[in-house]
Amino acid sequence: MSRIHLLTPRLANQIAAGEVVERPASVVKEILENSLDAGANRIELDIEQGGVKLIRLRDDGQGIEKDDLALALSRHATSKIYNLDDLEAVQSLGFRGEALASISSVSRLTLTSRTADQDAGWQVQTEGRDMTAEVSPAAHPQGSTVEVRDLFFNTPARRKFLKTEKTEFKHLEEVVKRLALSRFDVGFTLRHNQKVIHQLRPASSQTEQERRISTLLSPAFIENSMKVDVCAEASGLRLWGWVALPTFSRSQADLQYFFVNGRIIRDKVVAHALRQAYQDVLYHGRHPAYVLYMELDPKLVDVNVHPTKHEVRFRETRLVHDFIFRTTHRVIADIRPEQGSEPAISGAAASNLLSAAPGQPLTQQGFEQSRMPLHQLQRDADNAAGFAARSHYQADRPAAGQVRDQISAYGALHPQRDSASGLQSVSMPEADDTECPPLGYAIAQLHGVFVLAQNDAGLVVVDMHAAHERVVYERMKLAYEAEGVRSQPLLVPVSMAVSSMEADCAEEQAEVFSKLGFEIARMGEETLVIRQVPVALASADISKLILDVLGDMTLFGSSQKIQNHTNELLATMACHGSVRANRQLTIPEMNALLRDMERTERSGQCNHGRPTWTQMSMHDLDSLFMRGQ
Ligand code: ADP
Ligand code: MG
Repeated sequence: MSRIHLLTPRLANQIAAGEVVERPASVVKEILENSLDAGANRIELDIEQGGVKLIRLRDDGQGIEKDDLALALSRHATSKIYNLDDLEAVQSLGFRGEALASISSVSRLTLTSRTADQDAGWQVQTEGRDMTAEVSPAAHPQGSTVEVRDLFFNTPARRKFLKTEKTEFKHLEEVVKRLALSRFDVGFTLRHNQKVIHQLRPASSQTEQERRISTLLSPAFIENSMKVDVCAEASGLRLWGWVALPTFSRSQADLQYFFVNGRIIRDKVVAHALRQAYQDVLYHGRHPAYVLYMELDPKLVDVNVHPTKHEVRFRETRLVHDFIFRTTHRVIADIRPEQGSEPAISGAAASNLLSAAPGQPLTQQGFEQSRMPLHQLQRDADNAAGFAARSHYQADRPAAGQVRDQISAYGALHPQRDSASGLQSVSMPEADDTECPPLGYAIAQLHGVFVLAQNDAGLVVVDMHAAHERVVYERMKLAYEAEGVRSQPLLVPVSMAVSSMEADCAEEQAEVFSKLGFEIARMGEETLVIRQVPVALASADISKLILDVLGDMTLFGSSQKIQNHTNELLATMACHGSVRANRQLTIPEMNALLRDMERTERSGQCNHGRPTWTQMSMHDLDSLFMRGQ
């Protein structure tokens, strides 16, 4: 063992770089976030050789004072927070004060900047083991330029982990996409080896925002998604964005973007809530697609959990989970044929009904903070107690104090009509009947599989079995809920071994379980006994189900597993109970099916997430025959 000594600043920074600078994409993330924190409206990125040779970013943000330039490149130097209170309500993307120091310790970094009240720009670079800063004059407009050359030139081990130019650029482009999705109000340009890859103007209207999403993700996503915008006034939570129709599901979870106060995150609670919202309408193994923005009081979310800040911790896990679940579940449930709407599979039924002007992420309003002069971070939080706690949040909240629970507005669009059971017959209307229902009136049945109907727009084709299956299934679920859960005692009570935490949870949630038809008692520190179960689940693997449910409850505060299991059984029964292909239906029977579909939740897809109907407009048909060309 050698003697203890202090690491040189460069080595200390290189060690810190190990956590945050993995590849060119990580550099781009850090410097883009800095530009956004600096209030930039336009950002240009020039990349060479996947970012390994060169990353150059130019912004028109507030710039950095000459006297602060050297500090910007030193570790633990930031203009974004002063004390612990600031950290606990942080609204800027950065706050650790180590990105630039880390990056410049493993590359050749030059930072050039000019503030509004300086007549000329200044440039800084670091040198040697102590990373001494060299400041020199340089011509520059207001804003900053960060140039990062030869990444990892002095850390060969890191360099070896880099992949091909193409792969590195793909990662880098993904980072740009995410940040461009997080801030519609900022213009972005991305060039690779002098070729323009993306040129995105600031997008303020919904149409412009949707165009940006189309360009960055896929036009099909926007065409097949619904706009959501819901505020829960009591909790101050807002969720807005786009969720894809279940029929636009993916084989991978690759089109899932979730932003919390403008910061993209991956989070178990969020992912679970969304998976649950799509539970009933997705084909097994398929993944939903969404671009969603959640806004909440920064105090309710801890962003200082991970050096790259990809993860957050919610103070009120259950509240957040329930809000996301309820909001998205409601929107998905409401996909059904509507008067004058596009068919659910190709357009967004009701998509525009919910589009209140989407606000920008809160971070945009937090710029004031970054106008503070640069300073070295306080090591001792107590020393900094003199600063008053601030929250920009309350004052800046969009539409504060206004009830905008659009879920209920949504509900009002679909007044519940009485739903009769079985295929009821509906008489054909008189010729001059004014309103044609969304799915129109049946005209024929094709090969015992499809119902053909005529509506105002043209031809409607319905997959008879798929549609009926959904109608029956939804009706069975309603009946099940209305009648309440019937439960039956087990002949031999099942006793099961659990952890003491799970046993505690079972005890605390006894009432929830009993509502679901279970009677569960604790027999010892780590033993539960099940005495009574719902009739519908009598033949299921009860102890496994209970274990899964307890697992969910401890992680997410609630569980949908029993409901899902019951639903699966109902779905199987619905499948067997609904009209098979090759059965001749009468015209009134077909019309009854159409009317049932119109009033059934989720009737746009069958129980497996496939579409149940499609519209062919007169225009579509005309073009098939090249009429009018
Ligand atoms: P952090 O973002 O956590 O504060 P960084 O090392 O990324 O730490 O940046 C250090 C400081 O340099 C920032 O706090 C900010 O004051 C300043 N800075 C960095 N990039 C820019 C930029 N593009 N425009 C203006 N100021 C910047
Ligand atoms: Mg930063």
